[in-house]
Amino acid sequence: MSAQVHALKAINTRVEAPEDGAGLFEPVPFKVYTQRDLDRIPQLARLSPARRFEMKVVSSVLPFRVNQYVIDELIDWDKVPADPIFQLTFPQRGMLAAEHYERIAGLLRREAPKDELERAIDTVRHALNPHPADQMALNTPRDEDGELLDGMQHKYRETVLFFPSQGQTCHSYCSFCFRWAQFVGDKALRIASSEAHALHDYLRRHTEVTDLLVTGGDPMVMKTRHLRDYLEPLLRPEFDHIQTIRLGSKALSFWPHRFLGAEDADDLIHLLTQLVEAGKHVALMAHYNHWKELDTEAARAAIRRIRSTGTVIRAQGPLIAHINDDPAVWAEMWKREVRLGLVPYYMFVERDTGARNYFEVPLVRAWEIYQQAIQQVSGVARTARGPSMSASPGKVEIQGITEVVGEKVFVLRFIQARNPDWVQRPFFARHDEQATWLDQLVPAFGEEKWFWQAEYEALRDQGLAAA
Ligand code: SF4
Repeated sequence: MSAQVHALKAINTRVEAPEDGAGLFEPVPFKVYTQRDLDRIPQLARLSPARRFEMKVVSSVLPFRVNQYVIDELIDWDKVPADPIFQLTFPQRGMLAAEHYERIAGLLRREAPKDELERAIDTVRHALNPHPADQMALNTPRDEDGELLDGMQHKYRETVLFFPSQGQTCHSYCSFCFRWAQFVGDKALRIASSEAHALHDYLRRHTEVTDLLVTGGDPMVMKTRHLRDYLEPLLRPEFDHIQTIRLGSKALSFWPHRFLGAEDADDLIHLLTQLVEAGKHVALMAHYNHWKELDTEAARAAIRRIRSTGTVIRAQGPLIAHINDDPAVWAEMWKREVRLGLVPYYMFVERDTGARNYFEVPLVRAWEIYQQAIQQVSGVARTARGPSMSASPGKVEIQGITEVVGEKVFVLRFIQARNPDWVQRPFFARHDEQATWLDQLVPAFGEEKWFWQAEYEALRDQGLAAA
């Protein structure tokens, strides 16, 4: 579509403010801009043509999508390009390595034929580690006949991730997104499923699973009726073992009107209430990167409305250079979250994919930021864990930096692991100022391997052989 501007109908006839506060908001049309619409965003006119060209180059490779709410209410255009929400949503030149940037820029400048450009874009994308932590090779479960169940991941014993095919986009895209491969239209790089019965069959057979995480993209882009098809059957007795339903979403930040004036917002609120009243723990795993995302009237009203259902909102997000690599930003964010009734949950380390070179923060600095931020908040905000790396063996948290018998070390532990026996066992890595990810660390005290390494390698070889 030429304008790439969609209007999602949000007809809400209610005029009175109900108790949950939703009726205070008029329906707001949803307008979204993608790469082809960059020139149609009036605020970008204040940037130089060179900078706008850079944005076009980068957004040819990495997904770009931003909506009017983000542009109007979250970005402070007087502070662009440094504004954190601008960095969070708009492409920046540094997101591509110089050689990749020059290659695509050259092709765009000389208006190269479409297929030549597409081949080059494809090559660059595949060089960006589209599926970090072996997610496709190792985590995709199988059905009873041994067939791979696309659209599901089962890495940790008690948790299944489900990627509904209607939820494989987001209201805006984060420039650093570790799931960017979901959005570039290459089916080979996508994880998605619309198979509600496959999900239910799998969960029925796997009674060790207690948690279902519906994720994406963002499941909140789905119509409520689709979400209902996946979730309502879980109220049957055969799914009693599914105690917790988590919904991974950034809609509270990028499009809070999803919970307010959208045409099926009431039905969504009703569905959440129904699940909670039936005894499920429902958790909205809300993705936040900066306190500014909590600071609009719509964001606060949406939070109130979701909380009124009994759903718990847990807040999490990665530590990202140019956006939130500052203890003051995290401390402020955690304070505001607690004030609004959210539970601070995770500070993640930026994953080893996509535009990582631009956004990554050394682990030493990540730990300092976490420590300095947590020292500024009260006990109720110290529920935030981190900095945590979602790596292939498991979620590894940096617990601290210290000295043991004269050697400076990172103290690490698994919060989650492929083998539950690894969880909570401290282990040590040699101090390294530059390291940004687990695979760059080496065991401390002259050890050759991590305590979990041989077992992990065996599991990995087994998984890769079966894939
Ligand atoms: S909301 Fe999540 S999945 Fe969507 S673009 Fe941002 S990081 Fe990626």
